[in-house]
Amino acid sequence: MRAVALEEHYTVPRIVAGISPEAVARRGFPGPDFVWAQSTKRNELADLGDARIADMDANGITTQVLSVAGPGADLVPGQSGIDLARAYNDALAEACARHPARLRGFAHLPLLSPDAAAQELHRTVTQLGFHGVLVNGATDGRFLDDPIFEPVLSEAEKLDLPIYLHPGIPTQPVRGAYYDNLPGNFSFTLALSAWGWHYDTAIHVLRLVLSGALDRHPALKIVIGHMGEALPFMLDRIDETTATHAKTLLRRSVRQTILDQVWITTSGFFTLVPFISALMAFGVDRIMFSVDYPFASNARARAFLDSLPVSPADRAKIAHGNADRLLRLPA
Ligand code: ZN
Repeated sequence: MRAVALEEHYTVPRIVAGISPEAVARRGFPGPDFVWAQSTKRNELADLGDARIADMDANGITTQVLSVAGPGADLVPGQSGIDLARAYNDALAEACARHPARLRGFAHLPLLSPDAAAQELHRTVTQLGFHGVLVNGATDGRFLDDPIFEPVLSEAEKLDLPIYLHPGIPTQPVRGAYYDNLPGNFSFTLALSAWGWHYDTAIHVLRLVLSGALDRHPALKIVIGHMGEALPFMLDRIDETTATHAKTLLRRSVRQTILDQVWITTSGFFTLVPFISALMAFGVDRIMFSVDYPFASNARARAFLDSLPVSPADRAKIAHGNADRLLRLPA
């Protein structure tokens, strides 16, 4: 069975080398070599060819939709950031052109220059054949509900392709209040993969809803990973507690807005408790397979997909059908 994975990552070492260490440190990366320091992932992230395809072949992954992990153009203001984003996207487009059935792309944007970011999104979709955009958390402390990002939301809505809200490192005030001063590397882990990433991304979605941004862009499509970033578990509670004000300030309830405009993926989450919660809260048409390669294993993700307690038709929707339609992927 065809398996399309949407939260799959790459980087280009020569482009990362062009980002100032100060900007990287300001964003909260422990050092300019953050991603590179994870030596087991270094080669996998940078490989856009044979080794990546071989791992996909060995584990039943048909297509990866790729996005930038680690320091990127969203850290760099002005023309330099615009040039960096173009370089990332052009490098990915070359790889996709070599393996069109196996590798596809999400745009990487110079978000500190929102007008240019919207133009770059347009270029990557219309000229490079990309399928949407992935955003790594807050940009300079701002989530996408900030009015400066209106051009990006409008462009994604016009193109009718999704914005994938991926976690980023929580901002410094959040890290200081919530995560710092724990022993060993617990502060870093708790701020990222153990907790902070996921709640940060859920808040990103909720800010888009509560600010009215999704009401202003009712055709905008949002994707989040990690089995819905805790939203399936919290959705009833959020809906109940916001209901009164939502009636006057929003066009729809929070639940309805999320169910109308948000899709979720299985990236990095390969156990049944969160899956069942996601299935009950969002329904099978909103869940899409993903791995989070190379940070998670293709083998484990594919085994989880094959073991899901769903019908063959529903498994096919999760494996590729929902993504094929949402991203307009060639069959
Ligand atoms: Zn990821």
